[in-house]
Amino acid sequence: MKRKIAILGSTGSIGKFTLDVIRKDKKNFEVVLLSANNNYKKLIQQAKEFNAKNVLINNKLFYKKVKNLLKKNKTKVYSGNISINKIISGKLDYTMSAIVGIAGLQPTVDAVKISKTVAIANKETIICGWDILSKYIKRHKTKILPVDSEHFSIMELTKDISDDEIEEIIITASGGPFLNMPKNKMSKVSPTQAVNHPNWKMGKKISIDSANLMNKVFEVIEAYKIFKFSKDKYRIMIHPQSYVHSIIRFKNGLIKMILYNTDMKIPISNTLYGRKNYVSNVKKIDTKILSKMNFQNVNTKRFPSIKLISRCLNFGLLTPTIVNASNEILVNLFLAKKIGFLDIVKTINKIFKDKDFKKYAKRNPASLKEIKMTDNWARLKTISMCV
Ligand code: NDP
Repeated sequence: MKRKIAILGSTGSIGKFTLDVIRKDKKNFEVVLLSANNNYKKLIQQAKEFNAKNVLINNKLFYKKVKNLLKKNKTKVYSGNISINKIISGKLDYTMSAIVGIAGLQPTVDAVKISKTVAIANKETIICGWDILSKYIKRHKTKILPVDSEHFSIMELTKDISDDEIEEIIITASGGPFLNMPKNKMSKVSPTQAVNHPNWKMGKKISIDSANLMNKVFEVIEAYKIFKFSKDKYRIMIHPQSYVHSIIRFKNGLIKMILYNTDMKIPISNTLYGRKNYVSNVKKIDTKILSKMNFQNVNTKRFPSIKLISRCLNFGLLTPTIVNASNEILVNLFLAKKIGFLDIVKTINKIFKDKDFKKYAKRNPASLKEIKMTDNWARLKTISMCV
């Protein structure tokens, strides 16, 4: 029987990699849903190639175009904020959650209700919505598999391991394009330089987050939410080659790590096929590089974002939502050349001093509505601080 699959954010970097993986095995998949925000041309091309049963284009402006261009196909076309539960009847075998930003939260909650397995790349959903999401995961007995390479590695390294056995969890960071750049030069870097990651091909937002290490702030929160290991066990180390994604130091003296190449098709295909998976077309690690791998501590003067980790984990349940929202706005302002690269982290730090910060951060979110309210406050506050 064919496996029923949905890809939320199919036109993005992770979405396209997921389709690359199943392209070689089309006969075993029924593509039930593909979704995008604006990139209707790519969505149409994907729908035709994979005979998608349904497509969802978020931006309503493109609905008619998509409908028209797919009129000779059997694909049904939807648009706007419609819940995927209204589009899909029956259970999906696998959903890839790969929308960028908090926009992925509601669709992921909906996917958890109707999917046997949800692979989550969309880290903002975990950072902001895990406390709600986990209730649906339990209720619907959905299997959740992290796709982010660090979390995929932690999952692989800690199967059947309890918190008591672990001394330290190290999440590695490549250091991005500015690892060796003096801080005074960092203030002048352009968006083009910042998205030019040395090791990974990713969407713009996550590339900027990698360049100032905000990505690592989010990854620690993400790991803490998913795995429930003690928060004080996490540490970030620079590993410029990006072959090792996470390292676990056990109390019994062992250290374990997994190496794999910087190709997201590896974690993606593992979430699709498990161990019986033979990934083709991915570059293999040449063992000669083992002698060239190095690890170093993060210089927090040059990468002050790292100090936000402790603030996010200790200042109230909704602090990560505030930091995430503020960061999303600031990344967009930086991409639009309205603020400088270093202003991203500087402005996030300012929000902690706002008189209303505690009121929003200390809430115990009971609903997605409450998360969205806090997210909204942080966005408006951030904009007001930049104009
Ligand atoms: P991209 O920017 O490449 O793709 C984002 C996808 O989300 C696109 O399909 C986009 O559609 C869609 N989208 C954007 N906004 C909306 C919206 N408002 N409503 C519905 N769909 C929307 O991002 P990536 O693939 O790089 O990243 C996706 C997620 O995975 C992020 O959360 C990222 O942090 C995480 N991640 C990514 C990794 C990577 O290697 N790329 C690694 C680990 C995690 P459109 O194309 O039309 O704009």
